[in-house]
Amino acid sequence: MATCDFCGTSILFGGVREGDLRFCNQKCAANLPLLRASRAVPDEAVDQHAGLIHQGPCPKCGGPGPVDVHTSHRVYSALVFTSWSSHPEVCCVSCARKKYLKHGATSLILGWWGFPWGLIMTPVQVLRNLGGLVGIGGPARDVPSDKLKQMARTSLGARRRAQIEAGGLPTSWEAEED
Ligand SMILES: [Zn+2]
Ligand SMILES: [Zn+2]
Repeated sequence: MATCDFCGTSILFGGVREGDLRFCNQKCAANLPLLRASRAVPDEAVDQHAGLIHQGPCPKCGGPGPVDVHTSHRVYSALVFTSWSSHPEVCCVSCARKKYLKHGATSLILGWWGFPWGLIMTPVQVLRNLGGLVGIGGPARDVPSDKLKQMARTSLGARRRAQIEAGGLPTSWEAEED
């Protein structure tokens, strides 16, 4: 299955293409320059940064880790209109469970009322949240997931870009950009 090159969410239907890259929506596609910069960040720096986030406190509740990327899914409909979305968030397992429950319940109540996508996407999104709730398809607890590493890479890329734009740091990573 195709995944979004920015947030790592699996793309079931649709998505946005930018050259050889795929994004789940326009919001993710807008991060193309950032993605290019972050791809130039060395792997060791990414692993180190991801490890710190993983073992650190939950950015949402301040509780103990492991912290990782948990993606919940939502759908809502109104007559012929149906909208579905995925919501990746860096947080601890207990915050993630609350979000799976919330988005699962919202989808179950608001998802069905559009034809045909409401009928198709509601079971999909509800099952995805249910899977997340019981730990299927979610991140492993002992090591940072690839999604977390990707986020760590993006944040290092953004920081690096900002530093270079602000004060002209050595552009050794940038030199590796395509
Ligand atoms: Zn995305
Ligand atoms: Zn938390």
